[in-house]
Amino acid sequence: MDDLAHALLPQGFLRPFLVAAVIYGIRYVLLAGTAFLVWYARPAGGKLQRAMPRGAQIRREIAYSAIAVVIFGLVIGLISGYGIAPHTLLYLEVARYGWAYFWLSILVVILAHDAYFYWTHRLMHTPALFRIFHGVHHLSRNPTPWTAYAFHPLESVVQALGLVLIIFIIPLHPAALLIFHTISTAINVYGHLGYELYPRGWAQHPLGRWINTSVAHNTHHDQAHYNYGFYFLFWDRWMGTLDPSYEAKYRGSLAPGTAS
Ligand SMILES: [Zn+2]
Ligand SMILES: [Zn+2]
Repeated sequence: MDDLAHALLPQGFLRPFLVAAVIYGIRYVLLAGTAFLVWYARPAGGKLQRAMPRGAQIRREIAYSAIAVVIFGLVIGLISGYGIAPHTLLYLEVARYGWAYFWLSILVVILAHDAYFYWTHRLMHTPALFRIFHGVHHLSRNPTPWTAYAFHPLESVVQALGLVLIIFIIPLHPAALLIFHTISTAINVYGHLGYELYPRGWAQHPLGRWINTSVAHNTHHDQAHYNYGFYFLFWDRWMGTLDPSYEAKYRGSLAPGTAS
């Protein structure tokens, strides 16, 4: 794992930039592409919004996502190439904090990123900032798996800065970062999938009521209002920004186990 850490964090600007951009790009294409093939190649019942997306929407989403991948890579390259990495809390030997911390750190990063995403997302929905930062993401009222990284370049910078902030406050092994990002991208693709995967009754389940769902984020794209969370619904429930009809909408969606 420590060898992987050194491979993930080479020295200089160009190599870290290329390694990060390639990892971001391949992961996006694999996860979004697989989801697209499974759910859109032969459309199944249960789509949250009936209409299928047009080719122009998907081409736009992939183009903005490609720019996002380059920006994410650039930020990693800048951190590595301009002497910032030694000031972060990144560490290269798992033994330094042990395996229990390694796995715990992934959970902590998910919670920290959830808070960062919720508050920056709400900020970007203020009228002054929406058009500049976040309007591009909301061009997709009927999201697809490809919408996951479809950000305006300025919003891509905001998303990348979340990661920068996290590596300054939480000691992280690069492999933990890689696992976190893979989980994050998979959840991001699910949120934009256009189909619900959790079972019927999930929105009212004692655990499920705190977990963000594709229904919740699909509503966010459809209405550009409510449901600002990423992984969880903690912040939306605490701050009163959960769609009041969320549970009814969830029940009305054709979640697995729901009679259609
Ligand atoms: Zn979205
Ligand atoms: Zn939004």
